[in-house]
Amino acid sequence: MNNFSNSFSRRSFLAGASSLGALYAASKFVPLPALAQALPNDPRIAAQPIADKGFASIRKVGNGLYATIADRSKGLQARCNGGFLIGRDAALMVEGFQTTAGSSFQLETLRTVTQAPVRAALNTHWHFDHTLGNSVYGGAGIPIWAHMDVPARMTAVYPKWQSEDLATFLAPWEKRVRDAKTDSQREHAKSDIEGLTGMFKPVAETVLALPNHALDPAKMPIEIDLGGLTVVVEAFVGHTDTDLIYRVPSQNVIYTGDLLTGGQYPVNINGYPTRWRATLAKFATFDKSTLFVPGHGQIMGLEGVAEMRACFDDIAEHAEKSYKAGVPVEDAVEQYVVPDKYKNYRMFSWGFAIGRTYQQLYAEWSGKPVNVLNCS
Ligand SMILES: [Zn+2]
Repeated sequence: MNNFSNSFSRRSFLAGASSLGALYAASKFVPLPALAQALPNDPRIAAQPIADKGFASIRKVGNGLYATIADRSKGLQARCNGGFLIGRDAALMVEGFQTTAGSSFQLETLRTVTQAPVRAALNTHWHFDHTLGNSVYGGAGIPIWAHMDVPARMTAVYPKWQSEDLATFLAPWEKRVRDAKTDSQREHAKSDIEGLTGMFKPVAETVLALPNHALDPAKMPIEIDLGGLTVVVEAFVGHTDTDLIYRVPSQNVIYTGDLLTGGQYPVNINGYPTRWRATLAKFATFDKSTLFVPGHGQIMGLEGVAEMRACFDDIAEHAEKSYKAGVPVEDAVEQYVVPDKYKNYRMFSWGFAIGRTYQQLYAEWSGKPVNVLNCS
C-alpha cells in the first residue's frame, strides 16, 4: 500500500467535505447559470491549470487525478471533457475528444507530469466528440478501452456518413424544414440541421480509430490498480447504451462522460430518458463530497446532479401534461417553453433535446410505438 496517497486522500477528503458543505449552504442564493459554470470551491481542485490551450485546460482535481475541461467558446478541438489518472506504476487517460488536437493536448500534458506507462485510453461512450481523436492514442501504442459495444455502434453509423456527402445526409432533414407548418416548427427543424451538420463534418474529416479492448458490462464493476490508486469502472444506461463511468473511490472523484453534463439540455441523440433519469437518481445518492468531471460543462458536486435532474423533470412534466390533455406528440414538442432558469442552457438541437425525449416518453406511457427521431 502507498501510505502517502492514503494519508493525502484522507486529508483532502476531510477538507473537501467541509468546504462542499459551505457551498451547499450558499448554493440556494446563487442563480442557476452561475452555479452551472462556476468551478466548485473545493481544495481538491487546483486554482490554476497545469496547461491551457484555450479550447481546453487541464487542472489537478485530486492526488494523481487531473480533469481536462473543454471550452467550446474557444474552439471545438476537444469539445468534451476528459482527464487522466496517475498511479505509482501506470496511468489512464479518459476520452478521445472530437479531434486529434484534443487528444494530443491531453497526452502531451500527461507526459509533463509522469513518464509512467499509459495502460489505456478510456472512451466513456461511442459518440464522435469522445472518440474521433483516438488515433493519437493508437499511434502512441496506447490501447483504447471502451464498452464492448462501442466499435459496433461506431461502425454502424460513421463509415456510412463518410461515404456520403453532407447534402445527401441532410436531405430528409431539409424536407422537414420545407414541410414545417409553423414558424416555430421550421426554426426547430433548422436547429436539427445545425446540430447534425456539427456532427457529420468532424466524422467526415477523420480517420476513425476504434477501441481495441472491450470492457464487458456483465463483468462490472471492474477494478484497475494503477499502483496506490484504484479506478473502478461501472456501466450505466442513459445517454447511450455504452455509457461507462470511471470512479476513484478513495478520493470520491468520478469521470462520468455524458451521463452527466452541465449548462446544457441533456443531449438525447441515442438516449434512454427513463433509464437515464434512474442513473442520475443513483448518482444523487453518492457521497456528499463526490466531485464529478462531467462529459460537458464545469466540474461539479452533487448540486450539478440535482440541476440536471431538475431539467429532465421539467421536460417530463411538460410532456406529461400534454400527454394527459391528449395533445399529439408532434404538437406537444412544439409547445414546450424553455423556462427562464434554463435560458442560458445550450441545446444540441430542439429535436434531439426536446423532441426525441417527448417521443420516447409518449411511447412508454401509451405502450404504443411512436416515430422517434433517428439520425443514423
Ligand atoms: Zn455523447
